[in-house]
Amino acid sequence: MADFLPFPRPAIDEETIAGVAEVLRSGWITSGPQVKAFEAALSAYFGGRPVLALNSGTAALEVALRLCGVGPGDEVITAPLSWAATANVILAVGATPVFADIHPATRNIDLECVEAALTSRTRAILPVDLAGLPVDRERLYALAEKHRLRVVEDAAQSMGASWRGRRIGAFGDLTAISFHANKNLTTGEGGCLILSDAAQRPLAEKLRLQGVVRFPDGTMDVDVAGGKFNLTDIAARIGLGQLKQIDHFNARRRELAQDYFDCFDRSLGCELPPENFDDSNWHMFQILLPLARLRIGRGEFIDRMRQRNIGVGVHYPPIHLFTLYRDMGWREGDFPHAERVGRAIATLPLFPAMTRKDVERVCAAITEIINETTR
Ligand SMILES: *Cc1c(COP(=O)(O)O)cnc(C)c1O
Repeated sequence: MADFLPFPRPAIDEETIAGVAEVLRSGWITSGPQVKAFEAALSAYFGGRPVLALNSGTAALEVALRLCGVGPGDEVITAPLSWAATANVILAVGATPVFADIHPATRNIDLECVEAALTSRTRAILPVDLAGLPVDRERLYALAEKHRLRVVEDAAQSMGASWRGRRIGAFGDLTAISFHANKNLTTGEGGCLILSDAAQRPLAEKLRLQGVVRFPDGTMDVDVAGGKFNLTDIAARIGLGQLKQIDHFNARRRELAQDYFDCFDRSLGCELPPENFDDSNWHMFQILLPLARLRIGRGEFIDRMRQRNIGVGVHYPPIHLFTLYRDMGWREGDFPHAERVGRAIATLPLFPAMTRKDVERVCAAITEIINETTR
């Protein structure tokens, strides 16, 4: 049988591996010259905006909320169909998450539902670009301006994506990106926060590392309880190697997504993602299974794919139905679109080193499984 095909696989080249070895031998492995160089390179990538390297995308979201002054008594509107971090960070700063359902076509937050969820306590919107398909930035920022709200973009999955020709992160309010191992650009673990205004940088830096401000005479002060969110030089060196290749990685992902659309048997009844080849960075290729027509559930589908040596992921079960959130009062039926998509969604293998042959193998396996399990 063909080798196991995972759904993500990082692409780390030999030049990057050698660079990391050099950092390890240098005697300086935590935040230092590599982080400075990575931040400068990221800033150039994002149109000259100030960029803070952080040790996770979650940290970037949390620092962003704290920069906005969001805290107890404030509501933040976000999407229920996302990684748990998206809502957990709102709780982490003491604020209240308010979910707005997704739109079934884009699987991203529905801005009409956002508008309906506004209250006098709403302070910020935290939209998520699921699978690297950006939320409509024109409508988002029109809404935010109209209601004087801050925007913290959970662009964890959107490295290199764009909106109508403008790169995500190069415009807007605050943009948080993740460099987790499964993301389009990885540093193992890591992330960055892109600021709209250099004046926010000193506070952002304090929030990144224990609130510390250092003075030229070697002394320091602390006037805010910052976190421990700094990136290591080891990780930053991986990021520098990755950043050189990100546009190539994303171009390759786009080609593979096109291969999926070419090869996928449309008569199976699966819902394919929006065919967006302008804005999306194709972080994931996700289908919805036609569960009502099948004798098996998604778990069994994933098992059968695994028996054929193909990995399939689930991104994501809806956040509001996790125990923590149920205990706060959310129930089935609250966000029907997020629940339906969350039940049926399956993430297929997609990473730059894949080939069209791999895509054909995945599509053939899906056709076989669906045909043998249709009622
Ligand atoms: C990955 C991810 C995060 C968190 O990023 P980490 O680097 O894992 O902390 C947040 N939101 C979304 C949508 C993500 O995919």
